[in-house]
Amino acid sequence: MTSAIIVGSGPNGLAAAARLARAGLDVTVLEASDTIGGGTRSSEMIVPGLLHDHCSAVHPIAAASPFLNGLELARHGLTWLRPEIDCAHPLDDGSAGVFYRSIDRTAGDLGADGRRWRRLFEPMVNRFDALIADATQPTVRVPRHPVQLGRFGMAAMIPATTIGRYWKTEGAKALWAGVAAHAFHRLDRPMTSAVGLMLLASGHAEGWVVAKGGSQSIADALAAEIRLHGGVIETGQRVSALGELPPHDVLMLDVSPPIALAILGDQLPARVARSYRRFHHGPGAFKVDFAVEGGVPWTAEAARQAATVHLGGDLAEVVANEEMVHRGRMPERPFVLVGQQYLADPGRSVGNVHPLWAYAHVPHGYDGDATDAIIGQIERFAPGFRDRVIGQAVRSTTEMSTYNPNYVGGDIIGGAASPAQLLFRPRFSPNPYFTGRPGTYLCSASTPPGAGAHGMCGANAADRALRELGLG
Ligand SMILES: Cc1cc2nc3c(=O)[nH]c(=O)nc-3n(C[C@H](O)[C@H](O)[C@H](O)COP(=O)(O)OP(=O)(O)OC[C@H]3O[C@@H](n4cnc5c(N)ncnc54)[C@H](O)[C@@H]3O)c2cc1C
Repeated sequence: MTSAIIVGSGPNGLAAAARLARAGLDVTVLEASDTIGGGTRSSEMIVPGLLHDHCSAVHPIAAASPFLNGLELARHGLTWLRPEIDCAHPLDDGSAGVFYRSIDRTAGDLGADGRRWRRLFEPMVNRFDALIADATQPTVRVPRHPVQLGRFGMAAMIPATTIGRYWKTEGAKALWAGVAAHAFHRLDRPMTSAVGLMLLASGHAEGWVVAKGGSQSIADALAAEIRLHGGVIETGQRVSALGELPPHDVLMLDVSPPIALAILGDQLPARVARSYRRFHHGPGAFKVDFAVEGGVPWTAEAARQAATVHLGGDLAEVVANEEMVHRGRMPERPFVLVGQQYLADPGRSVGNVHPLWAYAHVPHGYDGDATDAIIGQIERFAPGFRDRVIGQAVRSTTEMSTYNPNYVGGDIIGGAASPAQLLFRPRFSPNPYFTGRPGTYLCSASTPPGAGAHGMCGANAADRALRELGLG
């Protein structure tokens, strides 16, 4: 029987394992941590019964993922829950830019920008299945739906600041800035609209959903599918070198390029080793989870019903602070993402105490404490928040990379989103997953289509492996 080893049980490692196990391979997943899931882990942290997502929280692209959808993970308990409001971006005057799954509702709320919003997103959303099918594949290939992808690509190439100027209202400008900031890059650079456009289009198509029972449900459902097909998952197994592994036909590495370099050593062809060495990581995330009594007293009414809240002030402020972070300097008021997943999934709360998820964009490798800056940003738009906090758990940038070695310097998106690395990660090749060692593939978020709990990097890498074996 053909055997496969998967190093790492993040959503991509598990997706690769599920794909290979379903194809009949003898699959073993080796995970360094004591629990599976990588960036999709959840647990109690502060108050017994209060459920926190350690990393990923909101899942529009996972909900749209062609691979995950094909697995019908509802059979294994994965249920997507929709909040009343998908995302709010409050401003200092008490107003907010508001994003709903419905284009009609979003456009209606955006007033003077409603028609422009519709003009930009309706064509993407109308054939979203075609768009996502191509956008989740490597760039160097012939697209199946060139018109759809081409239209998206034209807008995606533009710097986010240029699309920012397309909007007339402060609400639309701020909403766009907050979503575009997920690119984790200077927003005046080419290609920085790609991530924001995809998040908004997938949000209109699927909603900015959360997983019932925490993001861990995504990992658990994938693990159930792997075991159903005979696969084995072992935790507490950190792999440092090829020599530690039993014989195998296929090796999938759900790790960042520097870790792959260390594991594969001189088995990597020199040109691949060179490109892995050149691969660079971007700014970091500084995370704080809170237990909040009575929820957050947001001034903007919409933020009280939104599962995701972006804090960073207006477009100009978000752009300036993202640039500062990119240059390695810590802003006084960093861009902060807040998750109120419990609004869609009330089972995560305990009575009137709710889990609040938050992280700030900070410089790569930042060794300071951003807790006060995060609390300050929440207080700015929700005076009185501080008094409602009954407990908190902090994960600094350095702790982030100890928690998961893939988060190099706190970079949670698997590599800087520079134009070159967005298009060709980890290197320019029609098969960017292949490491050059026979049967060995990189399958983490450092490969196309990049960050997120969609599992498409793993599924694509596994497809390449199966094709190579003549099984795909
Ligand atoms: C704070 C935060 C917020 C996020 N928010 C979102 C969000 O809302 N929505 C979203 O879609 N995405 C979000 N993400 C990103 C998302 O979590 C990642 O893109 C995704 O988890 C990447 O999956 P992966 O399988 O490539 O790798 P990972 O999830 O990083 O998993 C890799 C696994 O490999 C293991 N590993 C590493 N090295 C070894 C080794 N040598 N031996 C054995 N095991 C090893 C690690 O322990 C880990 O379990 C967020 C991430 C963070 C940290």
